[in-house]
Amino acid sequence: MEFRLSPELQALSDEAHAVGRRAAERQEIREDSWLIGTSLEFSEELAQRGWLGMTWPVDQGGGGRTALERFVVFEALIAEGAPVATSWFADRQIGPTLMQFGTQQQCDRWLPDIISGTSAWCIGMSEPAAGSDVAALQTSAVSVPGPQGGTNNRGWVVNGQKVWTSGAAHADWCYLIARTDPTAAPHAGLSEFVVDMSAPGIEVRPILDATGNAHFCEVFFSDVEVPADHLVG
Ligand SMILES: Cc1cc2nc3c(=O)[nH]c(=O)nc-3n(C[C@H](O)[C@H](O)[C@H](O)COP(=O)(O)OP(=O)(O)OC[C@H]3O[C@@H](n4cnc5c(N)ncnc54)[C@H](O)[C@@H]3O)c2cc1C
Repeated sequence: MEFRLSPELQALSDEAHAVGRRAAERQEIREDSWLIGTSLEFSEELAQRGWLGMTWPVDQGGGGRTALERFVVFEALIAEGAPVATSWFADRQIGPTLMQFGTQQQCDRWLPDIISGTSAWCIGMSEPAAGSDVAALQTSAVSVPGPQGGTNNRGWVVNGQKVWTSGAAHADWCYLIARTDPTAAPHAGLSEFVVDMSAPGIEVRPILDATGNAHFCEVFFSDVEVPADHLVG
């Protein structure tokens, strides 16, 4: 079996190492994985190089490139300590999730800003009493009935607390998991939402860790209003 990169992939790797090295030199604290180094400017540079949404379908605005190409680029950037954290969740997790489970309207609304590197996202899943056991989560999203009641939902009101929310202090959007049916079995009755981090009622408290970094955060939701069309799917 041949483990060496093809000449094209080696050239891509060399280019990414050079880009990553230059970016890391501008950082006060170098990225040591994919969580610490935040830079909106570098996200936009990644976008200009076509390195965000690299593997996404072309008809969704992505690059249509292979997983191996993306791997080669990000392995090099991370090895050099480039600040990839700002775009990490959106590029790797949120975009693909929206493409698989969201509506086309939701893709049209949120994917372009991810691909252009101009929006930062966090994931609101873990809670103080719901870590490995995600099904124990208590953050609630209660439906606000429309004027006619029934299924005519005007939106949702979210209350609860998340923890270990990486990058929440810099995020524009939170991909939130909340309980929408308290009568269902613990692993059922959960729904996913896109929440605007500038919405009234959201408080972010960064957690200073032993290394001096503060990418982990606590996020508190107090009567946060979420529009009906922010329910994913
Ligand atoms: C680098 C990093 C980034 C993260 N970023 C995010 C983020 O952005 N958003 C987010 O929502 N969460 C994030 N998390 C949290 C993560 O997703 C997990 O939910 C969390 O780390 C696990 O929960 P806990 O720390 O409360 O541990 P616990 O669930 O309390 O587990 C503690 C220990 O008990 C063990 N254990 C648990 N249950 C059992 C069982 N039933 N039987 C045997 N052993 C068990 C576990 O294996 C573990 O060793 C992040 C975590 C890390 C490490």
